[in-house]
Amino acid sequence: MHYFDNAATTKPYAEAMHTFNKVNEEYYFNTASIHKAGRDSAKLLEASRKQILQVFGLPHYQCVFTSGATESNNIALQGMLRRKKRFGRTILVSELEHPSVINILDHHQKEGFKVKFIRTTEAGRVDVDHLKSLLDEDVILVTVMAVNNIIGSVQPVEEIREALTDYPKVHFHVDATQAVGKVRFNYDGVDSVSISAHKFHGVKGAGALMLKEIKAAEPIHYGGGHEFDIRSGTVNLPAVTAMAKALRLSVEGMSNDKERLKDFNRMIREEMEALRSITIQPSGVPHIINLSFTGAKGEVVVNALSEKNVMVSTTSACASKRATSNETLTAMGVDKEVIDGSIRISMSKDTTHRDVKMLIRSLKEVYEEIGDVLK
Ligand code: PLP
Repeated sequence: MHYFDNAATTKPYAEAMHTFNKVNEEYYFNTASIHKAGRDSAKLLEASRKQILQVFGLPHYQCVFTSGATESNNIALQGMLRRKKRFGRTILVSELEHPSVINILDHHQKEGFKVKFIRTTEAGRVDVDHLKSLLDEDVILVTVMAVNNIIGSVQPVEEIREALTDYPKVHFHVDATQAVGKVRFNYDGVDSVSISAHKFHGVKGAGALMLKEIKAAEPIHYGGGHEFDIRSGTVNLPAVTAMAKALRLSVEGMSNDKERLKDFNRMIREEMEALRSITIQPSGVPHIINLSFTGAKGEVVVNALSEKNVMVSTTSACASKRATSNETLTAMGVDKEVIDGSIRISMSKDTTHRDVKMLIRSLKEVYEEIGDVLK
């Protein structure tokens, strides 16, 4: 199988699986138990917390363990909006956000919050000048992703943080899910940052919310009060320790992978750009390519490639089972026909030269097979 859907999820590192299995066997205790086995497990938990914050260069932040970025985004945004509603009602959000952000805000709009969308440039980046023009005393939240999951555009996180320095009331949330192990950002000063382990070769079911101030967040469900009274429920220690391991490895391996992935990106682009009716979107990271078979349907291309044992996706995995239009491409002003024919190719450290050759060969075969519908 040739796997090109790494933006949906990645294969765990062998080392992360080793950590997961070992902790599952030797430290299966509840980190909230006060006996020695529980306390030893809690020590491991705290070591993982410290290590994760160190890797992000945020030792002065706090880290709440969650089940993944969806939960981290929910805790950050829902709790924050509840706390800040007496200061204002306006939320500024990029048009590029993942459903785990957009759908929270949709819900809050019905409860009287005002959601304003920050415009997107043709390159799929948040327009910082437009953001600045939307800032006023009623704004309490700005939420932007670090790397877009559909085309891989890198967002101006640091520039936005600068733009917000005169607005101390504003909470700045960054969904860094697709950035970890791919692009280095300086998150210092950002109020909250979400991550998800399975996007960087960790195990599914673990994520984190890093917070400048722990009191910025509030629980969205109630229970025994684990994780600073913010996220109740027995902590998934094996997955958390595996996440800490995967995070270190993915950040250490970042520069090695980058050159190889750039070469693969170039190979795919060169071969596909030569074909009529193929449109390739701009990107910012080498491992994501958004490619359109203009005139065809993305699902048809995905299924045809899947028959050849090549796995790609249409949009994001979360949206691809629904017949939604692709918000990122729409925001960039891309034609509907191009959007309808788009597929996402996403690579990782595990992608090989042979995978890329098979992908290119299969893309060309599919191109021939559906040639009569292409514009
Ligand atoms: N945010 C972004 C940008 C994503 O790409 C995803 C997953 O695709 C998520 C959040 C949600 O992550 P999870 O499914 O791990 O909760």
